[in-house]
Amino acid sequence: MSKKILRTTPSLVNNWDSCPTRGFYTDIKQIGQSETKASSQDSREIGILVHKMLEMYYQLLQWTDDKRDVRRISSVEFGRKKSVELSLSSTDVETAIRTFNDYVAFYGDEDIQPLEVEQPFSKVLFETDSHIILMEGKKDLKAVLQGNTWIIDHKTTGSKRFLSPISNQFFAYAWASEVRTVVINSIGTQKTVEPKDRFRRLFVSFTEEQIQEWYGNTVKSILDWIGYIETGHYLMRLTSCQSKFGLCQFHPICSSPPEDRERVIAMDYVHRPPHDPFED
Ligand code: SF4
Repeated sequence: MSKKILRTTPSLVNNWDSCPTRGFYTDIKQIGQSETKASSQDSREIGILVHKMLEMYYQLLQWTDDKRDVRRISSVEFGRKKSVELSLSSTDVETAIRTFNDYVAFYGDEDIQPLEVEQPFSKVLFETDSHIILMEGKKDLKAVLQGNTWIIDHKTTGSKRFLSPISNQFFAYAWASEVRTVVINSIGTQKTVEPKDRFRRLFVSFTEEQIQEWYGNTVKSILDWIGYIETGHYLMRLTSCQSKFGLCQFHPICSSPPEDRERVIAMDYVHRPPHDPFED
């Protein structure tokens, strides 16, 4: 019998770990609220645009001899073209471009040699008698910086916040690439904050024991998902229903009696075709 393939990513692991019922609604049933665009969505798209310009900037550094300012200008031009696809306001586009220009000025002519830019990966995490589980993702940048090889992840933020290095994303990158060192490249988009407080880097090295610990947790978690999917019974993790950003988008469903949920879903949510997570 051929095995089924289950593709996972660090963000899927986050989603299912935070609440299996949420994982079911977002990744299998594929429903979501039809709300007007929230401000958090705008800041996410500013971040995407900054990422696009950084991608071009580091690709030009990897493949050309262009001077820093030529790379910067080409990257901004690329960003302006990409901004059309992102439906950002002109103010948000200028915020992204200002942030990118400030970043390039702040890091100046630092000695960094890109090895891989936006390189996707897909690696077998584990197999069972019936399934092959893949971990997939895309690393922002792998580069030699300060004499060492690092996986560098750009994190744009509109406020000063502490980023935890022990995340599924960073562990997955370290596990998949066999580079055990990660740089969290924090990029603040604020206008009035000093560059030294907006551009910060956290250098993290994982030990083999830490990687193995993450691996064991992740395998256990994914085996639990497979059990939920196969039985059709999804745990409701009630401690995840509320966060500092408000209520989970599926709260109206979960707070309804079970017999009324399909009606709530039909009336208040947008639907895409259901997704079968198992591929042949
Ligand atoms: S409302 Fe709570 S139980 Fe329901 S999907 Fe969201 S986090 Fe899970």
